[in-house]
Amino acid sequence: MIIIKTEDEIKIMAEAGKILANVLKEIERLVKPGIATIELDRAAEALILLRKAKPGFKGYDGFPYSLCVSVNENVVHGLPSEYILKEGDAVSLDLGVLYRGYYSDMAATVPVGKVSFEAKRLIQAAKKALKRGIKKAKAGNTVGDIGNTIQRYIESQGYGVIRDLCGHGIGKDLHEDPKIPNFGKRGEGDKLVEGMVICIEPMLSQGNWQLKKSEDGYGYSTKDGLLSAHFEHTIAITKKGPVVLTEL
Ligand code: MG
Repeated sequence: MIIIKTEDEIKIMAEAGKILANVLKEIERLVKPGIATIELDRAAEALILLRKAKPGFKGYDGFPYSLCVSVNENVVHGLPSEYILKEGDAVSLDLGVLYRGYYSDMAATVPVGKVSFEAKRLIQAAKKALKRGIKKAKAGNTVGDIGNTIQRYIESQGYGVIRDLCGHGIGKDLHEDPKIPNFGKRGEGDKLVEGMVICIEPMLSQGNWQLKKSEDGYGYSTKDGLLSAHFEHTIAITKKGPVVLTEL
């Protein structure tokens, strides 16, 4: 069931989004060779609590941390660990907050120090795919319009679209209807209407789209071991078009 939000609810979600965007920006600044990914998690949790919000992922479906940290071929849901980031890694950070009863969800892939040209190109493509998807998040369009745009762009860049995981509605629950796949056909799927709040989150890989469970038991990584990237924003569908709630 798709839950439509009132303007007041969207205002609260925008506050949640702002808190989240600020925290993630600070965490991105900490990303450099030599830092353990568990330190990023601790910093994220402390910064969220400082802003009178709660970590959105901790305890959700048993997830034991506040931040998902997925390095290189790990796509999403990776556990923070003693792993020390090294020059040339690409680290995907996925973070959620719960504020005044509403969730906000966001992700970004960040280069660690100097990365290869190919890694840079992949990260850029993921970012652009998200931007293009957001433009389609308008009342009257469908979920398929978003997925189709993202898929066509990613594939035009020579990358694979991850299919087993997708975006979602968001509100009092972290994952609400509808599902927002990163592939699809124009005009198909649920219709987007004013008052919906959704997370669009393209995940792509240098190789094909098949995944396997990561060694940590929580995350997913590419089956072929090739590099992946992931970006996500929380977006409200309004009279004036898509409004990104997780942007500063
Ligand atoms: Mg999400």
